[in-house]
Amino acid sequence: MNSKLLVSLVCPFYNEEMGIEAFYEAVTQEITQLDGFEFEIICVDDGSKDSTLKQLVELSENDARIKVIELSRNFGKEAALTAGLDQASGDLIIPLDSDLQDPPALIGQLIHTWEANDVDVVLAKRVDRQSDSLSKRLSAAAFYDTYNFLAHIKIPTNVGDCRLMTRIVVDALKLLPEKQRFMKGLFAWVGFKTITIEYVRQARSSGNTKFSGWKLWNFALEGITSFSSLPLRVWTYLGVTGAFITVLYGLFILIRTLIFGVDLPGYPSLFVAVLFLGSVQLIGIGVLGEYIGRTYMEAKCRPTYLIRKTYRRESFRVVP
Ligand code: UDP
Ligand code: MG
Repeated sequence: MNSKLLVSLVCPFYNEEMGIEAFYEAVTQEITQLDGFEFEIICVDDGSKDSTLKQLVELSENDARIKVIELSRNFGKEAALTAGLDQASGDLIIPLDSDLQDPPALIGQLIHTWEANDVDVVLAKRVDRQSDSLSKRLSAAAFYDTYNFLAHIKIPTNVGDCRLMTRIVVDALKLLPEKQRFMKGLFAWVGFKTITIEYVRQARSSGNTKFSGWKLWNFALEGITSFSSLPLRVWTYLGVTGAFITVLYGLFILIRTLIFGVDLPGYPSLFVAVLFLGSVQLIGIGVLGEYIGRTYMEAKCRPTYLIRKTYRRESFRVVP
């Protein structure tokens, strides 16, 4: 009988050909030190256009711990992560970026923290983001502030996807049926007993970030609209406030004209009011559009990802 706990590392790869060797070496070096556990490395190839898949398949032929999931195209990190979590069979599950920004030394720290505490989730919080650009740090800070102001279930600041979860947490995540998955929000939504450790975010081992400014902006919108309906409801209050102010202003003009006989030059104030209200209405319609668009996508019930092929050497774990 196999009594060691199985740890699944879930690693999404998108055009990471330059860094695979370094990633494999660093991760295997770390996990061989953790001999009280068994490991599987779920590598999700998210439709890479370079030699990433080829390299991963080669690794899996020589190392039975590696399982490669080839998606049918690029679905984005959230979908790749979901695919990996669905495929992970471990008792403990750790998502890990494949660019070594989440240092593999974290694996041991996460596991030891879990062993020492009665918790289901161990979060890895980035205490030093010097490796990220200033604009990324500022936009991340603005995102966390806005999100946590708007959303009912808060997400911890500067905590990425890297964390340890027990089987029960991952099974809970699988119960959530939404197809467009903002993982940070879903992780927070399921709850469970959580403890946080801190780490220093490393620089990318090679290659460039896959998240441009525009992609990050849309990612932020996705997160906020997935977990807050406040932007939808705020228009009611804005409308009521605007109407109230308009009535007061109307009365003010009426009194000035009828009682005091002061003529008000109409054109500039009318122009400003029309422009202002027109813009506010357009913003309102835009916000509605964000939600309707997402509801529409969700209503189609398309799967989050499609798997083309799975690669794993046969002799992996002998099930008792
Ligand atoms: N990634 C992915 N699919 C994508 C974009 C990124 O699987 O469409 C993977 C990427 O290979 C990396 C992780 O997600 O392992 C994080 O991406 P990246 O390093 O570009 O993001 P950053 O760390 O800059 O936020
Ligand atoms: Mg990265």
